Parts: sequence; C-alpha cells; structure tokens
Amino acid sequence: MVRKDTLARACLLDHPATAYIVPVSRPDGITEYEVTWDDLARDAAWTQERLRALGLERGHHALITFSGHEGVWFQPVIEALRDLGVTYGTAEAMGWDHTRTRVFQRELELRAVLGLSADTLEALSGQAMIGDLFRGTPVVLARPGAAERLREAGVPAGIMAPLGPALAVECAERSGAHVNGAAWEVVERDGALAVAAASERRATGRQEIALDVVGRVLTDRCACGSDDPRVIFG
Ligand SMILES: [Zn+2]
Repeated sequence: MVRKDTLARACLLDHPATAYIVPVSRPDGITEYEVTWDDLARDAAWTQERLRALGLERGHHALITFSGHEGVWFQPVIEALRDLGVTYGTAEAMGWDHTRTRVFQRELELRAVLGLSADTLEALSGQAMIGDLFRGTPVVLARPGAAERLREAGVPAGIMAPLGPALAVECAERSGAHVNGAAWEVVERDGALAVAAASERRATGRQEIALDVVGRVLTDRCACGSDDPRVIFG
C-alpha cells in the first residue's frame, strides 16, 4: 500500500479529540489540562489575526524559535503563518541552537522573528551585538526576559510567550501582550497571574489555573482596537 492510500485510510479512523496534555498548577496541586485539536484551530485563527495586524502577509519570511515541548503554543503560530502564506523557518529556543537563528537572520530577509528566548540571546551575544542583529527586523516578538534585553539594546521588541495553556502576543501598540479573550479570562491574584478557560468544557465549571508569573492585567480596549485582555509581565 502506498503512503497516499495509507494516509487516506488513516483519515477515516476515529481520532481522539485530545491534542496535548499541559501540566498546570491548581490549589490542589499539579493537574493536567487537556487541549483539543479544536482548541488549536481556534488558537491558530486568533494568532493569524494578531500576526496579520502586525503586517505579516504572503511572501514574507519569518523565523520561529521554540522548544520541542512547546508545540501546544507554537503549533498554532505555525498554522497561522501557513494560512497567511508566510514562509517560515524554525529554531530550537534553547541556547545550543542559537547558530540556526543566526543563519536564518543572516541569510534571509526576515520580516519577523517570533518567540526569541533569553537563552538564544545569551548565546548570540557572545558573537555579535544583539541590537545590530535584530534592529533591522520589522517584527520581533520575544519571551518577557528576552524582550526586555532587546529593548535595552534598542530593538522595539514585543512579547510572544506562553501564559499557562494560553499564548500572549503583543500588538504594535506595545501596551501589553494580548490573550484571546474569547478563550481565556486572565486575572491577578496577589501580584501573580491566573487564567481560566472562558467556557469550561467539562462539567466541573470554572477552574482557575495559578501561574508562577508576576504581572498585571489591563482590560480596557487597546489602541489597536482589540478588546482582548492584555498582560504586562514583570
Ligand atoms: Zn493591542
């Protein structure tokens, strides 16, 4: 049987709805949060609109950096880039793969670098000035620690970072990283952040997920026009 036939038959089989299991903190300890394929499709559609608003379009080149275990957050980003027609490359977000980020940055005219980590920047800083590397890239979105370092180096970086099971993506206004308000509530609890699914699928009702992340939440309409809540990290 050729591969095409095998795939066609596989598509006819029943598939579990669960795509990922994410470990999360709840008052009663670490539990598992289930993310379905439908959740991923929803996240991809939301991310696509955020990236479109940042000017990404067909024909652009982008680099995404994330670790192997971060598919639940970055698979929707990849899907969003595909749907936009953006050609993308990927690099591991751990420091040892910084050379791949360097090569993409040097060889391609990148419109966007997404998900930069502090580890990648730390490794790159041994080779070049961080500001020189990324100042010419129109869209740079990084993890909170990395974004702070980039800004200090003169790169107006925004945020793209996991927030519990959700993804936070900052818009061009740079007034906080948006979280999909149709899917998530974000609240402050004693200076730390917590998220809860806006419509809990299970019969257990609303369950808040405490995060080991310090930050504030803004709920007013952003100057970009979005009513999604925004997170100020730190
Ligand atoms: Zn905004």
